[in-house]
Amino acid sequence: MGIKLIEPFQKVLIEKRLCVGCTASLDKAKKISKLSEKRDLVECKCKRRYVYNKEFNEYQRATFAEEQQYLKELNKKPLL
Ligand SMILES: [Zn+2]
Repeated sequence: MGIKLIEPFQKVLIEKRLCVGCTASLDKAKKISKLSEKRDLVECKCKRRYVYNKEFNEYQRATFAEEQQYLKELNKKPLL
């Protein structure tokens, strides 16, 4: 089992709904994709992507799989 690095500072920022890169409000991040009924992918102005969970009303960093899902959809709709 690998050691998972926890970055407390980033976690605190996300809990405060702030981008970990530029500390902009994630509530102002642009919604770029709908991952599911309860989850939206949003993109901050600094291009970092987050998943907004409507059910819990909270943000988390987008996982690699979620970014891939978004990029796949982009290819289907090149003019989005
Ligand atoms: Zn940002």
